[in-house]
Amino acid sequence: MGIEDHSGLIDRCAERIACEIAVVGSGPGGAVTADLLAKAGRDVLVIEEGPLVPASACRPYSRDEMERKYRNGGVTVGLGGPKVTYAEGCCVGGGSEVNAGLYYRTPGDVLERWSREFRIEGITFDHLAPHFETIEKQLGVGETRGEISPQSAKLREGARRLGFSSLNSLTSFRAGAEMATAGGTADGDGQRASMSRTYLRWALDAGARLLADTRVQTLRREGDRWRLRVLHGSRGATPRRVEIAADHVFVAGGAVQTPALLRRSGIKRHVGNSLGLHATLKITARFRDEINRGNGGVPTWAIDEFAPRSYFTCAVSSREYLALEMLQYPEHFDEIEHNWRRMGIYSARVSGGRGYVRNLPGFRDPLVWFRLSDRDLAELSEASQQLGSCLLAAGAEALFPSVVLGGPIESAEQLSRLARLPRRATNLMTIHLFSSCPMGGEGTPCPTDSFGAVRGAEQLHVADASLLCTAPTVNPQATIMAIARRNALHFLGAL
Ligand SMILES: Cc1cc2nc3c(=O)[nH]c(=O)nc-3n(C[C@H](O)[C@H](O)[C@H](O)COP(=O)(O)OP(=O)(O)OC[C@H]3O[C@@H](n4cnc5c(N)ncnc54)[C@H](O)[C@@H]3O)c2cc1C
Repeated sequence: MGIEDHSGLIDRCAERIACEIAVVGSGPGGAVTADLLAKAGRDVLVIEEGPLVPASACRPYSRDEMERKYRNGGVTVGLGGPKVTYAEGCCVGGGSEVNAGLYYRTPGDVLERWSREFRIEGITFDHLAPHFETIEKQLGVGETRGEISPQSAKLREGARRLGFSSLNSLTSFRAGAEMATAGGTADGDGQRASMSRTYLRWALDAGARLLADTRVQTLRREGDRWRLRVLHGSRGATPRRVEIAADHVFVAGGAVQTPALLRRSGIKRHVGNSLGLHATLKITARFRDEINRGNGGVPTWAIDEFAPRSYFTCAVSSREYLALEMLQYPEHFDEIEHNWRRMGIYSARVSGGRGYVRNLPGFRDPLVWFRLSDRDLAELSEASQQLGSCLLAAGAEALFPSVVLGGPIESAEQLSRLARLPRRATNLMTIHLFSSCPMGGEGTPCPTDSFGAVRGAEQLHVADASLLCTAPTVNPQATIMAIARRNALHFLGAL
């Protein structure tokens, strides 16, 4: 039985609903929170703006998946310099339903900085270790079995030739028998251990209710309760207004939508002023031999030689994703039709820059403004040259970086064209956003306290990527889940 058949799912809702705890958003932060609270016997209602799309309903990384599971079809543009497009999941399970499941614990030095600069209690590597251990066991995190994919092998080969340190990422994609049923062959192309298959499902088993396709417009304090004004059927032609009353609210709408909701509700102090992201430059490489199996799998190899400043990874390289990347090379667009089996997308990413989230009157989605400093941009230039050298060393015959350069790079000498990335002509993207409502101890300019409670608002918490104090530098989902778990246990008095 899939989550779509669960009795905890509310398919016809009344005009008024009451609950003890409302969790807004069902991504990794919201799902982990809902699971723990429901298992502790609390009356939990999860409210999710996006639809319930059964995990098996669309092929991973297909155009269909982008349309059904992402906000705005997967492409939202942030203003600033350089331009950054970003992608957010918008469905039951949030980003976990579309992501790659690559799993990294937060590095100890990042946590040490949070503890020191943000004066957060109980957040060292040792404090978080039990949360990571539990999550890893529950999601079945591990290395992929068998041979790595040809696309991964190219990155490994380039790293070996240049003497760079590299590794096979852990993943929560399920391997083995499940992988065989999903038609997977190598790397992380089994089944996603997404939230709708795991924590959210377990929360419903423990008695939580789930209201999908329902957007929370605003929160209002009335007496000792919260009133949530929501639109049910928010994607349909005639959405219905519903009012929800809750004693406690956990907002887990993700790093862009959470500050937007708080600000719409009049909660603005320090909210949405420090958005962070991993700024990513993609390079599509064409090799002489076939490297792309076209099965939409996630290549898991990564180069960590320059960590924490930069990471180089493989990216999903289905034909749909290749087409998006090659839009910047109209004269080479036909390459996809003829050469896609020899093409793969790789990325260089850095942490840095700062952004704002603001609502615009009359617009449904907030505006995101983001700027990388000159230093961050110089780091990204260096990182993209290093990644380019690796790919050429592994036998790439042409590189198509996501910056308008006037043609592909075909030799090591031509890599110097990446030495100064032009702000206006560089097209960055990110799938890792965070830090828009960071946690902080007493006296810090942070909207939430050491455990995610919103300052100046009673019984209101944040429980998602917004809470991360700074860039985790590694893929963020494990950090988000561990922090959500820690904070939910603290709320329950069980820490
Ligand atoms: C393509 C892609 C690949 C990725 N790969 C990886 C990876 O391999 N490893 C990794 O660690 N991370 C990865 N990430 C990032 C990871 O998925 C996110 O960091 C994570 O999902 C964020 O969790 P969250 O709980 O903060 O919010 P989200 O996952 O964004 O969930 C928030 C949910 O809240 C809902 N919501 C928002 N506002 C409202 C509202 N007003 N009312 C009701 N509901 C609302 C949204 O619809 C959404 O479903 C990837 C992301 C993408 C997009």
